[in-house]
Amino acid sequence: MGAASHKKILVVEDEQDILQLVKLYLEKEGFRVVTAMTGPECLRQVKEEKPDLIVLDLMLPEMDGLEVCKRLRSVPDTAMLPIIMLTAKAEESDTIIGLELGADDYVTKPFSPKALVARVKALLRRLERTPANGASHYRYGSLTMDLARHEVSLGKQEVPLTAKEFGLLEHLLRHPGRVLTRDVLLNAVWGYDYYGTTRTVDVHIRRLKQKLPLLEEAIVSVKSLGYKLKDPDGSG
Ligand code: CA
Repeated sequence: MGAASHKKILVVEDEQDILQLVKLYLEKEGFRVVTAMTGPECLRQVKEEKPDLIVLDLMLPEMDGLEVCKRLRSVPDTAMLPIIMLTAKAEESDTIIGLELGADDYVTKPFSPKALVARVKALLRRLERTPANGASHYRYGSLTMDLARHEVSLGKQEVPLTAKEFGLLEHLLRHPGRVLTRDVLLNAVWGYDYYGTTRTVDVHIRRLKQKLPLLEEAIVSVKSLGYKLKDPDGSG
């Protein structure tokens, strides 16, 4: 059980049977579970309950999961809240890209509750390994980012980065496998009161790739949306 027993999961689903089943399986694993059945209720619960992760159904009354995701991502407090989206298999690829935009992972219906719980645990584990939770280094292949010393090296060779390049790289390393829009990156690195354009992000990504050649392949551009650092585990 261990760490799971301290984590609070918000499950959002309007189908009562699925909601109860998922809740039951998560609680069996020691998670605390709160629930919501509509989009607006989900947003309220996020504020009141401060969950550690959300299991969010795509098809919801009043406001669908995509819109909920978008709203959560647009507020600094919840921009990085882990979200696992529940979705039907038949969805168009555009929707999937939309999901990638906001969700950290998704599970297609029908799903086994056991498999979903495994995905919840995997996502929480992945996030626990990141320095945002107390560690001091990121590693990505031969690249090391030392947060305390504000240094990036390839092997033993230190690579000087500007503050913005450092911030951008840190943000990518913190969220491997997730599509980060230019807006999200701009807000995270330059701040909400920055008046530059999203092209600034493209320019800095290009500079990062020039300075750190291993990122040339590792940072992929996702259509017109933004960028993604490939998950080093190969799962995304
Ligand atoms: Ca539903």
